[in-house]
Amino acid sequence: LPEQEAFDIEYWLLEEAKLQRMPKPKSLAGRIALVTGGAGGIGRAIAARLMAEGACVVLADIDQGALDESVAEFGKAFGKDVVRGVRVDVTDEAAVIGSFAETARAFGGIDIVVNNAGISSAAPVEDTSLELWNRNISILATGYFLVAREGYRLMKQQGRGGSIVFIGSKNGVAASAGASAYCTAKAAELHLARCMALEGAPFGIRVNSVNPDAVLRGSKIWQGEWRQQRAQSNKIGEDDLEEFYRKRSLLQRSVFPEDIAEAVYFFASDLSAKSTGNFLNVDAGNATSFTR
Ligand code: NAD
Repeated sequence: LPEQEAFDIEYWLLEEAKLQRMPKPKSLAGRIALVTGGAGGIGRAIAARLMAEGACVVLADIDQGALDESVAEFGKAFGKDVVRGVRVDVTDEAAVIGSFAETARAFGGIDIVVNNAGISSAAPVEDTSLELWNRNISILATGYFLVAREGYRLMKQQGRGGSIVFIGSKNGVAASAGASAYCTAKAAELHLARCMALEGAPFGIRVNSVNPDAVLRGSKIWQGEWRQQRAQSNKIGEDDLEEFYRKRSLLQRSVFPEDIAEAVYFFASDLSAKSTGNFLNVDAGNATSFTR
């Protein structure tokens, strides 16, 4: 190389090395998020991922004890100023509206909404009472609608766009025997997300969905009746469930709350600036394999 050019390359290599050592700005700095079910297994992982990227996060959950614990823990890890807890039942319209008002008071607006609060219920259609059916629809479909609608309204008012992420389920994409009310509600969520994507696009409001398959670790819905039912219907012990799902998956891997959080981060951030109305299955390949 001629002397001058060699000198230039060295100069730029040094500059690049300097840049590498500089602290990088956090990708969600200045963004405000509300995560429903934020005191549960997947919700906590999502909240942590968003805070690690610099977002201020409101955990919205019906469980006051779990909320207090989570807010204290996140306060220690990320600073008290970036996390709040709001007790809310997502089926209660006034409470949902109140939780967004609280978010605006605490942090000044809303940029990211994660619709995640949920329950599980396992019963075949013939054993599904109207009460059980309505409970699923009211929390998983109507609750998601209320939260998404309020987030959407505020985002539209603010005029700076935003991202709404639904936590759906593999069960909303592929049918599953023995949990019809849950599966139907999850399918409804997915369609709501797509309809909202169409309406939100002109305002820069993106709506996408992340669909997990079995995420046993940390999840409260895997601690009760759902766990027993799934073990019985697959004719295995409850302690063997995680291994069962791992082996059943195409990739032979278990899915953890952090895996869901990573996909949510993608949709919440500008990495997915050109994605809306999409869903991403984080299920180690399960939704693709109907016959497995
Ligand atoms: P989880 O039980 O650990 O967390 C759910 C949270 O939602 C809890 O903290 C609970 O208190 C809260 N919640 C329940 N009802 C509420 C209500 N009416 N209002 C406000 N908050 C309420 O369960 P998870 O595994 O973290 O599930 C989170 C989401 O992921 C759910 O929507 C679930 O359907 C979905 N999902 C989970 C799995 C899985 O295997 N864990 C698989 C697919 C989809």
